[in-house]
Amino acid sequence: MKIYSIGIDLGGTKILIALINRQTGKVVEHVKKKTKKDKGPQNIVKKMLDGIEELIETSGVKLNEISSIGIGAAGQIDRKNGIIIAAPNLDCYDLNLKKILSEKFNLPVFVGNDVEIAAKGEQKFGAAKGYNDFVCVFVGTGVGSSIVKNGQIIYGSTGTAGEIGHIIVDLNGRQCACGAHGCLEAYASRSAIEKRIEGALKKGRKSAILEYLEPGKAITSSMIQKSIEKDDELVLQCVTEASEYLSGGLASIINFINPELIILGGGLIEAVDYFYQETIKKAKAKSLPVPAEKIQFKKAILGDYSGVIGAAFLEDRGF
Ligand SMILES: [Zn+2]
Repeated sequence: MKIYSIGIDLGGTKILIALINRQTGKVVEHVKKKTKKDKGPQNIVKKMLDGIEELIETSGVKLNEISSIGIGAAGQIDRKNGIIIAAPNLDCYDLNLKKILSEKFNLPVFVGNDVEIAAKGEQKFGAAKGYNDFVCVFVGTGVGSSIVKNGQIIYGSTGTAGEIGHIIVDLNGRQCACGAHGCLEAYASRSAIEKRIEGALKKGRKSAILEYLEPGKAITSSMIQKSIEKDDELVLQCVTEASEYLSGGLASIINFINPELIILGGGLIEAVDYFYQETIKKAKAKSLPVPAEKIQFKKAILGDYSGVIGAAFLEDRGF
């Protein structure tokens, strides 16, 4: 019996390739590669192919013991044909991963998006195990979500359902990377908090975060957490503001879909408990009374592995 699958999480900074035991959900072996998108999509493909070969070699598992290869990438996906249509963070367009990987390894190949595989991982072996109606929301560079109804991910008519980051929270608001104004992502993501902090620092505001900053490097979730531990006024203000917006977005989801559970994950949620606690408290307060009473919140528990575990369970859905 083929008890293994290969799960690949293709992200903007790293490619995580893992051999997953389908029965236990455990990561048997993994390989990590830097994405380096400036070297082009062919370089990403090469690293992926090399990584899979390394993984097979180090694990000692034979190809005929592997049932499938699943890949999740941040971007628009043609699931039926296994093509990345557009992934600006990876600089990949019209990349037919299914063709390339299935020709090379002669295995079924499935392609999905990054949030979908993370939600699938949490559903199979993480915080959503045993739940059929839930929404996973991941907060990092952007804000993404995946909706699960009756145990199945809702894809929508064009496969893009769950774009919580682009619900509009301020009609005349900040410009979002998608081109619209006032999207949730422009207020509640780690990058949004980062921009607010940097803007205030430029204006001369004092902050404990200054001692962790390195020239040319981004503000990380752990720097934000360390500053909060020092009761830093500026960082607390920016994080509180972001939680205000995120809770508004979540309350809208609670009222609109009425899920039994919301899973929150991603770097900012993992590192900054204050952000998580403030967000769920305010989301309940902003929701309608009946769904607010029932809604449960949990943190994602699989961390970096949620994507590769979920990718191993991608399957042919016929579209
Ligand atoms: Zn947007």
